[in-house]
Amino acid sequence: MFYPKRVPKVADWLLPQCLWRKNDEAIYLTFDDAPSPCTLELLEILDKCRAKATFFLVGERIERYPDVAELIVKSGHRIANHSYSHRWDLKAEALRDEVLRTERLLRNLDPSSVAGEKLFRFPYGRFNFAKLRVLSELGYVVVMWSLLSADFDDRVSEREILRLLRAARGGDIVVMHDLEKTMKKLRAALPIALAELSKRHSFQTL
Ligand SMILES: [Zn+2]
Repeated sequence: MFYPKRVPKVADWLLPQCLWRKNDEAIYLTFDDAPSPCTLELLEILDKCRAKATFFLVGERIERYPDVAELIVKSGHRIANHSYSHRWDLKAEALRDEVLRTERLLRNLDPSSVAGEKLFRFPYGRFNFAKLRVLSELGYVVVMWSLLSADFDDRVSEREILRLLRAARGGDIVVMHDLEKTMKKLRAALPIALAELSKRHSFQTL
């Protein structure tokens, strides 16, 4: 399957109801599918580079790793909604239930995460207009990305991921994953990329 690692600007006006990138010099690191047994290591890497990130949490996983989820908040990162079961094939109504269920879990962890602007990312980035409408009715901003690290892709080498991360520019929303599988690659690439990028950019939460 081909997919663009850098999303062309045309996406911004084809789907303006989604957030694809920001208009400033900061870099916005995002980690999907958290929490996981690898989160701790990820938090240490971010801490070393004084980087703040946005973690898109899966409700089911918050229940499985509640202490880890709490640690993400305590470390000063932002948490956001990535559905409850991480299925891409939910009908719009089932999606609504999942978003609300995870929202309650997020509220317990950090009330501020759902008090102002609420952020959602679709599992696998897959959606249709009925689902977009649900999110908009629930008051969510749908977050996409401008740079895909491809850390989930077995065909993409560690070296290639480093190259992709190094190419981050101001305003980029970068997607990575908080999973055992992807950590194998991020463990090596992320500290190097962050150290380099931090000379020119800060890393902010969305
Ligand atoms: Zn995901």
